[in-house]
Amino acid sequence: MTLRLHNTLTATKDVFEPVAAGQVGMYTCGPTVWNYAHAGNLRAFLVYDLVRRHLQVSGYDVTHVMNLTDIDDRILDQAMHAGVTIGDYVKPYVAAFFEDMGALRAQPATHYPRATEHIPEMVEMISELIENQHAYIADGDVYFRIASFPTYGALSHLDRAGLRAGARIAQGGRGLGSAEPVPGGASSRIRQDKYDKESVSDFALWKKAQPDDEKLGAAWDAPFGRGRPGWHIECSAMSKRYLGVTLDIHAGGVDLMFPHHENEIAQSEAANHKQFARFWLHSEHLADATGEKMSKSAGGFTTLRDLTDAGHDPVAVRFFLLASAHYRTRLRLSTESLHAAAEQVRRLREFADRVQRSTPSDVDDGDLLRRIGEVRTGYREALDDDLNLPQGVGLVFELAREANAAMDSGRVGERSRDALLLLVDDFDAHLDIVRSEEPGLAQEVARLIAEREAARKGRDFGRADQIREELREKGIALEDSKEGVRWRRVR
Ligand SMILES: [Zn+2]
Repeated sequence: MTLRLHNTLTATKDVFEPVAAGQVGMYTCGPTVWNYAHAGNLRAFLVYDLVRRHLQVSGYDVTHVMNLTDIDDRILDQAMHAGVTIGDYVKPYVAAFFEDMGALRAQPATHYPRATEHIPEMVEMISELIENQHAYIADGDVYFRIASFPTYGALSHLDRAGLRAGARIAQGGRGLGSAEPVPGGASSRIRQDKYDKESVSDFALWKKAQPDDEKLGAAWDAPFGRGRPGWHIECSAMSKRYLGVTLDIHAGGVDLMFPHHENEIAQSEAANHKQFARFWLHSEHLADATGEKMSKSAGGFTTLRDLTDAGHDPVAVRFFLLASAHYRTRLRLSTESLHAAAEQVRRLREFADRVQRSTPSDVDDGDLLRRIGEVRTGYREALDDDLNLPQGVGLVFELAREANAAMDSGRVGERSRDALLLLVDDFDAHLDIVRSEEPGLAQEVARLIAEREAARKGRDFGRADQIREELREKGIALEDSKEGVRWRRVR
């Protein structure tokens, strides 16, 4: 089977092949931890989870890097207001981010590098860019010289006129050394766009330290002057540190495409002289009930906490964000759509539970068996076709109706039951809604299974048996199969 992913760079669905066989290096833009993540961000983070899981299902070993932006203008403003250092200010929001990801069952990334912990890597890259004339110093700030990078704009397919238009639009955005408006912005320290830039589109790599920055713990020494990094350079420097100069996949929300991702490409390719990312994946916006794009700065601020306080199950939120629309289409958040998602989760869990508990009939229904095979293939093909999870889940629902009817009339034999169990494993590898209702249990079981495998490999059968017993006490039974070790709840 062939995996095709829509690549923003080519604007087509391209066959995915990593540089090194079997290994995928994936970088995804993470949260700016100035506040709780809003639902629009969570959608992007769950799309990363889907990409990651499908790559794993496809047999790839994935190194997934997701940065935490723990320094930017908004963080500086808020820390100033609270009278604490930026390090202290972001702490609860970093913790909240990991809590949200856990509640939403996103698989943890391999690395979560933080901007403030990678200043030397950024300083090194900026120095290279100054040395090779792609960047210049102006009054203590350092800017990237866009005129030195002729292919700038290729990702967002901007022509020169479009680029100028985009540059104007981006003036208010966080891309060009300014920031999104901060609520209660009277105290805002955001500086007006500088006049000493060579071109209005040039963006900041480094910002000269202001007196307040020292108090906030937000200033570092560099050969080009004491200061702090601009926002874009962190992704170029940290992806290189953990994944090397060419990424197999770079993903992010569509709002990051311009200018952030264009700037990442410019910085990395100008410094490394190698292609930065081979595949660019962008997820669409989440809209609020009125159809407006959700963002913190626009006041449309719905966090996972808001949703759980309103009684929504995080697993239903996960299903809604991942499976109710293809990742490249807009999705509208509403109470009704969340309730519909919760109902779909309930039906899939009930179906999985029924299959697991069912006693097979003596004979198999050949037609049913063939249908299950078709749906398993169709599900896989849908995911291989640019991660079309909604289409795949649609097939599962159709089959669930047929299989429920077959169980009602005793037409599910052993082979059909096994095939249905495999189908449950297939869809739950992406959805992760069935295996357990307790957060963290699936990871804990996975960890124990891995430990048991290691014990068996080391011929420590005593420990292996002990782990099987521990799991049995938790109500988990292990089954060894050709595909590996499966687990299920026993009552
Ligand atoms: Zn980024």
